Amino acid sequence: MVQLSDDCFAFGGPLLPLNEALRRIADRVQPIGETEQVSLREALGRVLAADLVAGRNVPPHNNSAVDGYAVRYADLNPDDNTSLAVTGRTAAGHPVSNFLGEGEAIRIFTGASMPEGSDTVYMEEDCVAEGNAVSVPHGIDRGSNCREAGEDVTAGSLIVPAGRRLRAQELGIAASVGITLITVYRRLSVGVFSTGDEVCDPAGDAPSGCIFDANRFTIMGMLEELGCKVTDLGILPDEWSAIEAALADAAGEHDVLITSGGVSLGEEDHVGRVVEHLGSLYFWRLAIKPGRPIALGQIGTTAFVGLPGNPVAAMVTFLRVARPLLLRLAGRCDVEPARYSVRAGFSACKKEGRREWLRVRLERNGTGDAVARRFAVDGAGVLSSMVAADGLVELSEDVRILEEGTMVDYLPFSDLMR
Ligand code: AMP
Ligand code: MG
Repeated sequence: MVQLSDDCFAFGGPLLPLNEALRRIADRVQPIGETEQVSLREALGRVLAADLVAGRNVPPHNNSAVDGYAVRYADLNPDDNTSLAVTGRTAAGHPVSNFLGEGEAIRIFTGASMPEGSDTVYMEEDCVAEGNAVSVPHGIDRGSNCREAGEDVTAGSLIVPAGRRLRAQELGIAASVGITLITVYRRLSVGVFSTGDEVCDPAGDAPSGCIFDANRFTIMGMLEELGCKVTDLGILPDEWSAIEAALADAAGEHDVLITSGGVSLGEEDHVGRVVEHLGSLYFWRLAIKPGRPIALGQIGTTAFVGLPGNPVAAMVTFLRVARPLLLRLAGRCDVEPARYSVRAGFSACKKEGRREWLRVRLERNGTGDAVARRFAVDGAGVLSSMVAADGLVELSEDVRILEEGTMVDYLPFSDLMR
């Protein structure tokens, strides 16, 4: 199952910088390794486990890019129209057998193989048909409107490297070279718990002093977006024996267990200590905001991630810490999220030495630049700020004062959740 070394996540320091946390994950987490073969139609969103190599050229033959006439460039008058005898007709999928002789043209349609002897194609619109002949203008380049065999894909070339999550275009290129069975990594199976005596399932009641569980739904949603097989394991009370029994039971059945809440050092925070008792646990205090505490560990061969309870902190730490761990286990090679430079539509102060994320919406300003607008209320528990946002602005450790108009890194949710 999961390939984690024993002291995989050990760290004894005070506040761990995000990059150091990501480096530890990168160094120590190996893909699950187990693969399966799926058909093209089942491969969307799966992680490719073996390079896709082309067994043939695409296109397989020189062909016409337009409807028109195939000609020999050598026959064309350099400064006048040329009249050519039309000696045949060829459509896609129906190659002609006749050789294109001197002074001849062949009527050709898009995708049809270039007749032997021809090297250039005129677009129909540029030609004048004259009975069994055609008049073509001067001034065309040799090879115009021809697509060469192998100009898209060359036989023997790598078309998609292992580790890529397969999108529609990767399925299309595999199909274009005749690949119908794809070797992918087995989907990661991930079990998700919420924790807390105050946390209630939204399908039931929430007595006085209680709240409905938001985290299980954000976390399961993000896992599904990442292509994991998710099991909803419900809500655990703040009670040692119940947590111990549930985690011990679930560990053998999943590659990864994720909890939220109960990982601080409060008296009612049992999750971390239970994991430590059942396996091993490394409690990281990250130099980040929101979401300082995050627990990583393992129970047997199952990886464990304990996210903070506050709903925004749970989502942000999932996206910036748990996601890279999950993608590496899943065999992905493109773990770093995409980031784009946008203008800050606000000013901000932050603590130096800490990585911070602000929830923003993108707008265009008068000159067409993308500007990040910040949500007014943005505590670690304010999930409506995530709903209003398109993504996160990431401020690096060295930033202390951010002036309005400065270029900042923007990480769209659409890229973070795939
Ligand atoms: P904890 O980390 O358990 O101390 O929780 C921190 C805060 O997050 C508390 O206010 C909890 O009530 C809240 N919280 C914990 N779990 C959830 C959850 N599943 N959904 C919504 N809020 C939660
Ligand atoms: Mg709690």
